[in-house]
Amino acid sequence: MKSLIITSALPYANGEIHLGHIASTYLPADIFTRYWRHFGREVYHLCATDDFGTPILINAEKESITPQQYVKTWRDCDLKDFRSLDISFDYFSQTSSEKNIQLTQQIFNKLCNNGHIYEKDVIQFYCEFDKKFLPDRYVMGKCPFCFSENQYSDLCENCGRVPDKILEPRCRICGRVPVKKTSKHYFFRLSTFSRQLRDWLTTNHNLQSDVTSYVLKWIDEGLVDWDITRDLSWGVPIPRKEATEQVFYGWFDNHICYISSFLSFLEESGDNNGKEIWNSSEIFHFIGKDIVYHHYLFLPAIRMGIEYEYKLPDYIPTRGHLMLSNRKISKSRGWYIGLRDFLQLFPSDYVRFYLARVTPYSQTDINFDWDVFIERINNELIANIGNFIHRTLSFIRTAFDGIVPEPSAYDDIDIAIVNRISGISKIVGAAISNNEIEKAMREILEFSTALNRYFQKKEPWQNRQTSPNTLYISANAVHSLGILLEPFIPNSAERIWDQLNLTGNVHNQEWSRASRLGMSAHHKIGEIQPLFEKIEKRKLNLDKWKVN
Ligand SMILES: [Zn+2]
Ligand SMILES: [Zn+2]
Repeated sequence: MKSLIITSALPYANGEIHLGHIASTYLPADIFTRYWRHFGREVYHLCATDDFGTPILINAEKESITPQQYVKTWRDCDLKDFRSLDISFDYFSQTSSEKNIQLTQQIFNKLCNNGHIYEKDVIQFYCEFDKKFLPDRYVMGKCPFCFSENQYSDLCENCGRVPDKILEPRCRICGRVPVKKTSKHYFFRLSTFSRQLRDWLTTNHNLQSDVTSYVLKWIDEGLVDWDITRDLSWGVPIPRKEATEQVFYGWFDNHICYISSFLSFLEESGDNNGKEIWNSSEIFHFIGKDIVYHHYLFLPAIRMGIEYEYKLPDYIPTRGHLMLSNRKISKSRGWYIGLRDFLQLFPSDYVRFYLARVTPYSQTDINFDWDVFIERINNELIANIGNFIHRTLSFIRTAFDGIVPEPSAYDDIDIAIVNRISGISKIVGAAISNNEIEKAMREILEFSTALNRYFQKKEPWQNRQTSPNTLYISANAVHSLGILLEPFIPNSAERIWDQLNLTGNVHNQEWSRASRLGMSAHHKIGEIQPLFEKIEKRKLNLDKWKVN
């Protein structure tokens, strides 16, 4: 089997991770990664912080610290948050790493040699009050495409396009109207890749058609060559004598960091064949829909421009935004749920379960609603899955002294449920490998519902004669659930494994084992306790997120 390289979109080293990021990108990527680790397949889950860009410089200036210090603080913070949510990166780098700077400059040189870069004088906004050029987020104005107000000049948050010529500009620092000055910039000939991009988008059936259809529309409207230069001090230096006061635009180098992280990771473990492995792997870039433009146009065009020295992604799993109580999340307006705040209230597996349960493989926006969250945790995770596991294990403890009983001949009900176990790993596996995590979760829930029904129907507390079969099969179903749930709620899966007193590591059990009766009779189970605790709304303080 080919190796798998899985990347998660890079968080800006500029603020805390919130549930929106988790739902669209990090959780789906992590579930996918964890699933494939059950096949002994070589899997690399990579991420990094995106350290460059004007917002970071603006904030570092505000706090009177260096941008290096500023990004280090956020990088440490992000890493801690990801760890507390059990997001299992194999390597976490940063775009300001030496390797990324070096690779970005190499790629730029190669693009120049291949004729894909040209120089052009551009008129730049310049604030005479602040005495500086005002790239990107230093300028706000009206989007020339959709006429939405208060948009940044590097990305319209309303229509998702990159406004080439923002209307009614204002300096973000002082609010004054900027003047225009000339500066020499490097441009990437994005427009010459229109046909190649169109071919790639229409022939690569691994890409989601709901995304490619509107990217193709952008190509039809005509692609604009891309200014990759910024008159700033913080960024990847442009390797040209005449450009010492300039750096590359962050979107030129940040996706290159997917590649440089991979190369660094291998080199650090003594392997210098990173390029060959990259090119022979299956590659997935997980993203949210706000960065479609960059990942479906800029990223592939640059790799095309260096003659596919590093291959294109096979998949770009793209998901919609998370809404909070049906309102668009906005960090600037404080309307979001920070991961850290959330994990102070609930175990990490609650958020993983819920978001996996509601996040489709499409651009459809999803909604986070506290009541629905509480309902699903209580009724599904706890009253369904948790209940089956706990009732099975406590029954074995009390009625069989903690020993899995020896089964005798199965009756029809036993046979039906054993058949269900035999089929479940393929059903759930197919959904995860198609990236349909919410479907996979639904299948697990239906499986667990069937198990509860089985237990209920067999009434082991009444039927002494058939109860050994019931508990033998149920114990095995708990074992199956442990493996099936591992990609989704890894922490609870570990506890299931411990309570079953099984050896080995639940995180790398062979996936098909979930469909085998892997627990033998006479096995002694471990100490048990309920896996989950019911959420009581009245004990929670959710005022911070109250809709006004
Ligand atoms: Zn717009
Ligand atoms: Zn100003």
